Amino acid sequence: MNTLDCDVAVVGGGPAGSAAAITLARAGRDVVLVDKATFPRDKCCGDGLTTSALRHLEALGLRPDAVASWHPVASTFICSPSGRTVELPLPAGGDAGTFAAVARRADLDAALLDVARAAGVKVHDGHALAGATVPAGGECVHLAVDGLGTVRARYAIGADGMWSPLRKALLGGAGEPEGYLGEWHAFRQYLASGGPEAQRGLWVWFEEDLLPGYVWSFPLPDGRLNVGYGVQRGSKRAPEPLGKRMSQLWPQILARPHIRAVLGPDARPEAPHKAWPIPARVERTPLTAAGGRALFVGDAARATDPMTGEGIGQALESGVLAAEAVVGAGALQPWVAGRRYEQAVRRGLALDNRLAGLLSTHGVAHRKGIRLAVRLAGATGWTRRAFGRWLFEDEPRASLATPARWHRHFLRRPGAFRPD
Ligand SMILES: Cc1cc2nc3c(=O)[nH]c(=O)nc-3n(C[C@H](O)[C@H](O)[C@H](O)COP(=O)(O)OP(=O)(O)OC[C@H]3O[C@@H](n4cnc5c(N)ncnc54)[C@H](O)[C@@H]3O)c2cc1C
Repeated sequence: MNTLDCDVAVVGGGPAGSAAAITLARAGRDVVLVDKATFPRDKCCGDGLTTSALRHLEALGLRPDAVASWHPVASTFICSPSGRTVELPLPAGGDAGTFAAVARRADLDAALLDVARAAGVKVHDGHALAGATVPAGGECVHLAVDGLGTVRARYAIGADGMWSPLRKALLGGAGEPEGYLGEWHAFRQYLASGGPEAQRGLWVWFEEDLLPGYVWSFPLPDGRLNVGYGVQRGSKRAPEPLGKRMSQLWPQILARPHIRAVLGPDARPEAPHKAWPIPARVERTPLTAAGGRALFVGDAARATDPMTGEGIGQALESGVLAAEAVVGAGALQPWVAGRRYEQAVRRGLALDNRLAGLLSTHGVAHRKGIRLAVRLAGATGWTRRAFGRWLFEDEPRASLATPARWHRHFLRRPGAFRPD
């Protein structure tokens, strides 16, 4: 069998893996990226991009015109269990830039992987990681990759998603509850022929029987919609077996009159529905293994937001942070890279997620809490605009808990991809 040598091996070519690989390659590292899927590949997701995700994508060099289904959005509609709907407009027009967008993951992830290839990353898609070891002496990581042989690397980055085979190979189940299945479970289906209301923006329904979960409808080009719902595992409204229960409930959710009124009478499924877990416990998860030679990012680091379930921005951010830690450690011992990465996550993402977890438990988990939030958000034109940005820009939301990061321009920063 072949042996492939490189500075850093990245396992997984989703947003976390591509972000890490691009950052490393641009810093002059020799990077091999493997993914078991052949791209373009689907990923069960709502396809919604927050302002933070968009800013990272722009900085990584992604061009929206390379993503066929790219669809900027300028409004969000949030609906409380009592039926109140509030429109939260995001800045639009002129040189405001983009604050929210929707793009099919099949298109987005393939385009980002192309950016990685152009940066010099050796991408081997269609090749799965089968095992990983750190030989005695601990000077490198050996990855067994189907159809490729052994990849021998100074560092390995685990960007291989919720079930992270790299994490399993190096850590087993260490640091996670037994039989861990994620904090949320979410369900998605693409619909065709969505009505004009659904095309107006991102729709989020807080349904009483799903709290703190919610139903969404996100618009895509050509009248298509990404529609789905997520529930918190372990909450009293989410009895096991969760996957089966969610499938049973799905047709009923699509038929609820207030949801159907937005989706439109002609909206129809265009592909089977899919479900997937969402891991949201970055602050309680080991982020490194093998003395810092392996670093976990994105869903493999359990980095999604515990309140909204969004994880693309967090995947991009953690991928960049891990790459920067490796580059910053240079020729020093790998534990230096590991520690730098852990500290960077602790200072930002982990704090943000702790706050989002608190908001989720004490705010949106209850009918009264969500009703109050929707009422406050819709009080005036200013609250509608400010709440929209607060919801979409992770930084101002997180700054509630981290006054050290307060600055005067929170709600004044432009969006991403501003016209030249
Ligand atoms: C239904 C649903 C809706 C969601 N909606 C949103 C949303 O609207 N907005 C948002 O921001 N987030 C959303 N999320 C969360 C988001 O999808 C994830 O947080 C994000 O995809 C994480 O990116 P990642 O790169 O870490 O992992 P992934 O995108 O999962 O990529 C992991 C990669 O690893 C590869 N891999 C796995 N095993 C192996 C192996 N053995 N060898 C090699 N490669 C392997 C996979 O093929 C995959 O390409 C949603 C999640 C779900 C389930």
